[in-house]
Amino acid sequence: MYKKLFIPGPTQVRDEILQVMATPMIGHRSQDYADLQREVIPKLQQVLYTENLCFLSTSSSTGLMEAAIRNCSQKKVLNTICGAFSKRWHEITLANGKAADPLEVEMGQAITPEMIDERLKTGQYDALTLVHNETSTGVTNPLYEIAEVMKNYPDVCLLVDAVSSMVGIKIEVDKLGIDVCLAGVQKCFALPPGLAVASVSQRAMDRSAEVKDKGYYFDFHVFLKYYERGQTPTTPAIPQIMALNQQLDDILAEGLENRFQRQAEMAKFVQDWARQYFALYSDERYLSNTVTNVKNTRGISVAGLNEELGKRGAMISNGYGPLKEHCFRIAHMGDLTLDDLKWVTGQIEEILGL
Ligand SMILES: *Cc1c(COP(=O)(O)O)cnc(C)c1O
Repeated sequence: MYKKLFIPGPTQVRDEILQVMATPMIGHRSQDYADLQREVIPKLQQVLYTENLCFLSTSSSTGLMEAAIRNCSQKKVLNTICGAFSKRWHEITLANGKAADPLEVEMGQAITPEMIDERLKTGQYDALTLVHNETSTGVTNPLYEIAEVMKNYPDVCLLVDAVSSMVGIKIEVDKLGIDVCLAGVQKCFALPPGLAVASVSQRAMDRSAEVKDKGYYFDFHVFLKYYERGQTPTTPAIPQIMALNQQLDDILAEGLENRFQRQAEMAKFVQDWARQYFALYSDERYLSNTVTNVKNTRGISVAGLNEELGKRGAMISNGYGPLKEHCFRIAHMGDLTLDDLKWVTGQIEEILGL
């Protein structure tokens, strides 16, 4: 039996979208494909509030995290860390042979602009990585305040992993001056996995032009060469791009503000529910609108709960890494509705006899 997904990726995909993915294939060097890509890009720019280049990458989000690192630093990267995905960015930086320092806070806490300012003042860095919404803890970092501080450091590229927030929480790329803003489509876009997207600024492109040994697959200038023809350098995940085209229409029809509002309402509902029966794991000031990390204050078996939920056609997520049985996460991103969340929390209450 298929389960309705309340996990933070991949998220539940609507049947209409699955149907679009069954469209007969087209050649990636054909006019049909170029037309498709040229339809998708302006809509992506619209949802990201940007005029920057928007690239399509046939990879998971992690591929574009690697791309951002390879293209945008030749000095030293400051990797902010507040959980598993932001830690991954530090690992990626080191694995690519780049110099890097971590700026780490405890899980459940947020990165603040003050901490960043303190470190950037040293003048050692040419790039900063930030996970906007740390999916492992359910924390949304204060991106707008951080971007404000970054304006004092025009030589430092701001690289943002917006994997679990893009089109779920407002991100005005141009206003914020984000150099690379990336996400995979299997989270808030509510599409099947296999494609990632990123906006890339002129500053990032200029930096990339100076950097050596970027490899080939993720070189932004190779991307650009093909982009100008309405193409990608290699065969892209065409079914995902077709689905993205449809989904962007649907997102714009819903209205971006309405979509953000819907996520916020679902988040508030789940947070209130968690406070009533359990507790919240993360700093109350920075709770995420797309995923809630519930502290397992009752010592229930999270694996057992999920097994029972499975019989009722739903799936939530355990805590991430060391939090596995200490927390459980309920995602409320993508095309889920408040009624879906009421239903799943109701099921949990029944199973646990709350
Ligand atoms: C899911 C996730 C990733 C990893 O995404 P992949 O598409 O699996 O590479 C990275 N960062 C964040 C914040 C995520 O939520």
